[in-house]
Amino acid sequence: MFTWLNASMTRKISGLSFVLLAFLFIVILYTAYKSQKIYKDIQEVSKIDIPLLEVITDIEILQLKQHLWMEGIRLQGDVFFEDENLRKKGMQGFDQFNQRLATQLERAISILHSALALDSVRINVADHQVLLKKIKDLHSHRVSFEHAFVQFINKDQHSDIDWNNVEKQDNALDDEANELLMSIDQLAIQVASSVEKQERDFLVMSATLGFVAFVIGIYLTLHTILSFRRKVDVLRGQIDSLHRSMPHDADANTPRYKGTDELDELEKDLRILIGRFSQERESRDEVESKLIELATRDKLTGAFNRHKWDEQIKYELVLAQSGHHFSLILLDVDYFKKINDSYGHDVGDNVLRVLVKTLHRRLRQTDALFRVGGEEFAILLKDTNLEEAEFLADQLRKSIESLNDPDIPSFTISLGVTEYQHLDDQSRMIKRTDILLYEAKGAGRNRIMVG
Ligand code: GH3
Ligand code: MG
Ligand code: MG
Repeated sequence: MFTWLNASMTRKISGLSFVLLAFLFIVILYTAYKSQKIYKDIQEVSKIDIPLLEVITDIEILQLKQHLWMEGIRLQGDVFFEDENLRKKGMQGFDQFNQRLATQLERAISILHSALALDSVRINVADHQVLLKKIKDLHSHRVSFEHAFVQFINKDQHSDIDWNNVEKQDNALDDEANELLMSIDQLAIQVASSVEKQERDFLVMSATLGFVAFVIGIYLTLHTILSFRRKVDVLRGQIDSLHRSMPHDADANTPRYKGTDELDELEKDLRILIGRFSQERESRDEVESKLIELATRDKLTGAFNRHKWDEQIKYELVLAQSGHHFSLILLDVDYFKKINDSYGHDVGDNVLRVLVKTLHRRLRQTDALFRVGGEEFAILLKDTNLEEAEFLADQLRKSIESLNDPDIPSFTISLGVTEYQHLDDQSRMIKRTDILLYEAKGAGRNRIMVG
């Protein structure tokens, strides 16, 4: 039971649908079986019991008629027996009755006989068999009565005792036919009530089965709707808490979207959430790139900082070991202390800003400028050989020398230029460039030294 409760929605719904369909199938089978049974019972009543009742009623009427006819003979008395014509006419009438009675009895026997032989009788079979026996008995009693009567009529002497015997026999036959009629009547009533009971049972059973199917259907529908709504509510609750967990929740107080149904509302909620997520992601990316910028740039000049320099030189060395060539320039502002001393620290700062701006203007997209000390800078030149680096370094020197900014004093820079050499590591390469820069300073400043 608990395993079923934890099953997926699809399994639950398909399980219940299967139960409902199986149940409906049973209802249909039961209805078909019962209808067929009731149809056969009604057929039995209409083909056996009703015709039998009609035949036996006929027999009783004929029996009565014959009784009356005999009463007529008794009243006529000797006149009847002495008048040949009257007797002949009387015998003809008797034969007619006899034949009609015999035919009807045979008909009754054949109805029951064939019905029992073909298994058409299914209700009160034993009673029907008893009935058949009674009809057969009546038939044979009738035949013996016929003989007795014909014998009596053809006798020369007609005593009252003989006549009374014949009449007694006829009365007995009357009673027998009457009794038969009553039995058939009772049997017909029994059969009819049995059919009626079957119909009633069928109605009760069908109504019960239909009701159970209805209850299962209602349960299935309610279960499906409630489970679905519960899941949607849980999802919407989770969406709401996600909204709340986000910073700057501008949409938190906006009225909830009213859709055509729960799915429509859920879809809208999800769309809003996804929109907010992507917005959030964009702003996060923006913040991240700003943070990266802040972490890697020097605040005063905008050049890359020392931290970035350490990372980048290592990276370039790794690339160089796999065949990518690069060159390095170290540069330092000449007599910067003097500028500070003569014009103030702010002017010194401005000098540094202008220096970086001017260098950037000259550098290529692939070159990177780093502030590695107070007024010391490094330039990494990707895919550049020494000759090209020398040319660029001189260009830089000249552009600083020729600067004509009214806000700052003119100044110069000295540069050490080198390229990556086999087996170079970070300290070896920097040391070599530093020596070159030192040599440039020593040689009078505002110059480049290449090595
Ligand atoms: P040289 O030609 O030999 O390089 O002489 P120099 O005066 O440039 O060298 P020195 O190393 O003696 O002086 C560097 C000065 O740069 C000292 C320091 O106060 C100044 N300085 C370092 N960082 C900053 C800065 O961020 N802003 C300003 N305005 N000055 C700085
Ligand atoms: Mg200096
Ligand atoms: Mg210096």
